[in-house]
Parts: sequence; C-alpha cells; structure tokens
Amino acid sequence: MAASKPNPAPSNLLKVVVVGGGFGGLDLVRHLASAPVAITLVDRNNHHVFQPLLYQVATAALPPADIAQPIRDLLKGSNITVRLDEAVGLDLHRRQLKLRSGGMLEYDVLVLASGVEYTYFGHNEWAAFAPSLKTVKDARDIRERLLSAFEDAENTSDLDVRRRLLTFVLVGGGPTGVELAGSIAELARYALRKNFKHFDPASARVILVESEPRLLSGFTDDLADYALRALQRLHVEIRLSARVSSIDADGVRVGAEKIAAGLVIWCAGVKGTKPASWLPVTLTKHGTVPVSADLSVPGHSNIFVIGDLASVQSSSGEPLPQVAAVAKQEAHYVAEVLRSRLNQTKPPAPFTYRNYGMLAVVGRSAAVAQFNRIRLKGTVGWLVWGLAHIFFLIGFRNRTAVFVSWFWEWWTNRRGARLIIGSIAAVQGKTDQDKSQQGPGATEAGTS
Ligand SMILES: Cc1cc2nc3c(=O)[nH]c(=O)nc-3n(C[C@H](O)[C@H](O)[C@H](O)COP(=O)(O)OP(=O)(O)OC[C@H]3O[C@@H](n4cnc5c(N)ncnc54)[C@H](O)[C@@H]3O)c2cc1C
Repeated sequence: MAASKPNPAPSNLLKVVVVGGGFGGLDLVRHLASAPVAITLVDRNNHHVFQPLLYQVATAALPPADIAQPIRDLLKGSNITVRLDEAVGLDLHRRQLKLRSGGMLEYDVLVLASGVEYTYFGHNEWAAFAPSLKTVKDARDIRERLLSAFEDAENTSDLDVRRRLLTFVLVGGGPTGVELAGSIAELARYALRKNFKHFDPASARVILVESEPRLLSGFTDDLADYALRALQRLHVEIRLSARVSSIDADGVRVGAEKIAAGLVIWCAGVKGTKPASWLPVTLTKHGTVPVSADLSVPGHSNIFVIGDLASVQSSSGEPLPQVAAVAKQEAHYVAEVLRSRLNQTKPPAPFTYRNYGMLAVVGRSAAVAQFNRIRLKGTVGWLVWGLAHIFFLIGFRNRTAVFVSWFWEWWTNRRGARLIIGSIAAVQGKTDQDKSQQGPGATEAGTS
C-alpha cells in the first residue's frame, strides 16, 4: 500500500504564526494541534532545548543531544508547519512577519515566544571574555573552554599561569551561577582526580560573585543559606555584595580586587529578545512586554506574548518569574483563548499563574526545593529535583539517556561527555600565548 501523504492545511483556516520553539511556543502549538487552525512555528534553531540542564552540558555531565530535540520531530500535526528561520521584523499593518531568509509570513494571530537573552549591563565588550549560557552552542563552547583550561594547565610549568588557568569565576548568584559553581567544583575535585601529572585538579579555584547580600534571590533565606554552605563545602569561594567592574582577557575586577582567571562565565541579567521592540508598546526596563490580562498586546488583540518575553504580574503585584512553568501555563492559556474565539464561546478568565515550586541543585546529592510552605534540601531535595527534571524532559529517549548518565555519574563520580571538539591548534595557541607571557627562560611544557 502506498504511504499516505500528509494533508496540507486548507488555506481558509485561521493562520497562527508562533515565533520561538522554546517551552512556551512548543506547548502552545501542541495545545492547538487538533484545532482548526494553520500553525507555522518559526525558530532560528532546529531544536528545542531543555535549558534547565544546559549547565550539565557545559560541565561535561551530559552530551548536548540528551537535552535537545529536533522541533520537527516534536511537532508533526498536518496543520503544523515548522520553519528554520529567524524573525527579523514585523509589518503590523499588513499582518506579516519578516524572515531572515527574505520571505514574509502572513498571520491572523501572532504569538511571540522568543524569550530573553543575556545583557552585560551596557558593557557588551565583556561578552567576548565572559560567555553566557543560553543555547546548546553556548554550553559546548563553555565546556571546551573549561576542559581546555585543565589541558593548558598541564602544558605549562609557570605556576602563575597555571593558577590563572585554574581559576573559574561565575558572575551572578542565581540558580545558573549556583548550579555551574557546584558542578565545576565537583568536576575539579572528583571527576578529574588523578587525570593530570603536573597538578592536582582539586587545586582549581571556583569563585562565585553576587551583587546582592545573598544567593538565590527567589528562594527563602534558609534555603539560600543551605546552598551557600553546600558550595563552601565544595571549596567554592563566594563573594556577596560584590560587583564586577571590568572583565578582560586576563580575568575580572571585583571591587578593588583583580582576579586573574582562565574562564569567566556570565550568569547575571537578561533582557527581552528583539521581537519585543517591534511592538507599539512601552517595554519594561528589562525589555519585556507588558501584556493585557489575556496575554495579548494592549490594543492588538491578535498578537500575544508568552513566556520569558512577557511581563505579567502575580496576584500580589510581583512580576512572574522567568521559568519554564510560567511559559507552559501561559501557552496553555493562550490556546484556550484562541479556542474560545474559534468556537465563539466565553473567553477564559484572566490568566493566573499556579506556582508549583522552585528547584535548584547545588551539587551531588544536594539541592534546594521550595513548594509554597514545604521546603526540602539535601539528598531529599536532590531526589525531587532529579525526578522533576526527568519528568519534564521531552521524549522517552532523552529521559532514559539522562537517567542512565546520572546514575553512572553518581555511581562512578565520573563525567561521560568530556570531549574537546575544537582543534588542538586552538588549545595549543593558548598555550603558546601563555608561554610567551612566561618570557624566554620558560621551561618546555610538561618537563618540570
Ligand atoms: C541556563 C538556564 C537554566 C535555567 N534553569 C531553569 C530551571 O531550572 N527551571 C525553570 O523553570 N526554568 C529555568 N530556566 C528558565 C527557562 O528555561 C525559561 O523560563 C524558559 O525557557 C522560557 O521559555 P520561552 O518559551 O519563553 O523561551 P525559550 O525557551 O528561551 O525559547 C525561545 C525560543 O525562541 C527562539 N528565538 C528567539 N528569537 C528568535 C527569532 N528572532 N526568530 C526565531 N526564533 C527565535 C529561540 O531559538 C528559542 O528556541 C533556565 C534558563 C537558563 C538559560
């Protein structure tokens, strides 16, 4: 029997265009998959990323494919079209989205779910020296730089150069900074133990810099305090109420102190992505879009903004956190609004967010979990964190692969994804630079 071709969506259907295949965009399309609409999802990447586990790719605990999935594989309905492209402009009058490839996409309903990106607080020049962690490529780049620092440290006999190479600074004490700090410290202390001949990897310094007087600002004081002590047990140096004033190729300046560092990772502020700036509304100071109670753009009932890009207040007047659960609930809500319009039924009540809790991991068998009044920490918190992440990961293959990797890592204290894919020349180039800094009398690498 001949394979049946997928039916093209009839052209008279309502055209829904979604920008972004992250948590919000993906869930919205899934909720609308059976509705009589023609959906086009545009993303500049061909994959959906489970961002909460990016730090594990960056620290060689998981390979990239375990936390990312092709969007085409995830969205297969006959009324769904996936386009690998970047939205670069909007013609509100003609109801058209402009694409980098040159095409224009017509829409009846537009949903912006393009998320946020890191901002260097007006110091864009810092980005070259302090990468941030948002995409799979970022995570791979950080992994290469992190692992290369240990390799370069083995290849030099200059103790100052080695000390600099083995100093890792995380800027920002939110969940990403805390998770990276714990994971890098464990990589150095356990996973790399006995791997090098000329130095002890446990001598690496991990420094976490936070401008506020405490870590994990969204969590209660006792959980933040637990996270701080758990990191200190891993010998992470924590600088609270400390501001970074410059970052360059040699390291970072914190207040009056210059810290020579082999790798600085930026985990501080974020701002809305470009699509927010195309809308005729005044954005928040973080470049996000203040939306109406039904998550549409004020004055434009056919344009919605969801996820990190939307600025929505909780019932107590606080802005909702930029977390996956908010994006998913908003996606579900907008799908309901659109269904009610299609069916000409009463629209749902204004959007409200149900907070099921927050989690952050600090290290092996140490995490904090906050579910309203219930607070968990230590091994129990870590087990809940692990189960929640396995549950929310998309796809059976990814869940199984992550579970197996974690179990193996927990059992052996090793990391399976310690690959440097960049060329040897790149690593060697850095070593040569270090040698030239040592001066003419430098000893040949590895001969001391
Ligand atoms: C390192 C890290 C760790 C995190 N940890 C947690 C956690 O533990 N728990 C938690 O709940 N949340 C966590 N978050 C936050 C969570 O990932 C976000 O809240 C969530 O991803 C927001 O979903 P979104 O759909 O709004 O945006 P995203 O998931 O960021 O998706 C945006 C999509 O839009 C695409 N895009 C952007 N601009 C364009 C354009 N112009 N054209 C086409 N496509 C475009 C991007 O490629 C991307 O696929 C973490 C985030 C990071 C970065």
